[in-house]
This record gives sequence, C-alpha cells and structure tokens, in this order.
Amino acid sequence: MKIVQIKCPSCGTPIRMKNKERIFLCDNCKMMHTRNHGIESIDYEIADFAPGTAGERMYMPFWRLYCDFSIRSKNVERGSFFRLSQWIKGDRDSGMLFVFIPAFDVSLEDFKILSTRLTLNPPHYHTTMNFGGVPRMPVLLTKEEAQELADFVVVTIEAEKPGVLQYLDYSLIVKDEKIIYLPFIKTPSGPVLAV
Ligand SMILES: [Zn+2]
Repeated sequence: MKIVQIKCPSCGTPIRMKNKERIFLCDNCKMMHTRNHGIESIDYEIADFAPGTAGERMYMPFWRLYCDFSIRSKNVERGSFFRLSQWIKGDRDSGMLFVFIPAFDVSLEDFKILSTRLTLNPPHYHTTMNFGGVPRMPVLLTKEEAQELADFVVVTIEAEKPGVLQYLDYSLIVKDEKIIYLPFIKTPSGPVLAV
C-alpha cells in the first residue's frame, strides 16, 4: 500500500494516510484539512453511537451540505407533488436544507438510498470528540465533487414519483460543507445506522 506522509498545518504532527483519502485528520490537534486547492481546513463532526448499540461498529463519512433550496416554478394544477418543497417548512417555496452525500466508496444504488434517506430524514445525534477506536471508512470524495452531486440527490428524490421531474424548476446553492461521521453497525443485510 502506498503511503503519503505530510505534516499537520496546525501543529506540525506527521499525518499518515492511505493514498486515496481526500482529507487529512491530525491525531494530535484533531484538525482536518484538504490539499486539493492549497491547504484548507474542513469542519467535521463525529456522531456518537446510541447507548447500548451492539454489533461490529464502523464510522462512515458523509459530506453534509447546507443548501439554499428554492423552487422557481411547479405545476400545482396537475397535482404534482414535490417531496422537497413539502419538506420545507411554511408556505414559501424556498428554505434551507441539509443534503447528505456519502463520501466513502459506495455503489450507485447505496449512494441513492443513503443520500435520499438522510436528506429527507436528517439524523439526530450527540457528537463525540473522537472515534473511540472504531474504524472509519476513508473520505474519497472531495468537497467540490460533493457539491456537484447535490443536484443529483435532489433529482433522485424528486424522480421517485414518476412524471413529476419535468415540472421541477429549482435552484440549489451550497452555503456550507461539513464532514459528518455517522455510526453504523455491520449486519448481514448491510450497514445499519446506529444513532
Ligand atoms: Zn495537528
């Protein structure tokens, strides 16, 4: 396995990471940064496991994009039903929205399931300061790639109701990005969220 060695821009501690990982996390001062366009600090959160969680634990990273979502036009006469517009509180057709983008190695099918499920039902959790020895999957998606995928998630959510998509005209502006490590338990039928 090829290893790159770099130093934490904050405290100078060497950071050893797998070559493919797109973020660097310092074990000493906990700063996370990327080097895609120069050194850039990244906000992140580690969600704690629910009390009493049993089974093999792992952390999976997601980009959580805080987005300004607004619908320019929709066809109410046809009874078109927009899941995201319904989700936005109030009568207005715009609001803030968290879009979750899996940042780890994942199949397209699982990407769709995880991103739509978490975006429509953002998980509630307590944060913790460290991983507690639980393995974490590497972040393979850059922030810019995640931003580009936000539209794909919105379209995937709306496309679940056939015939609706052609009437959707919206804008989605990413305001803020954060890596969220969510706790999962391995099961025979796949990972299960454990918050
Ligand atoms: Zn450091």
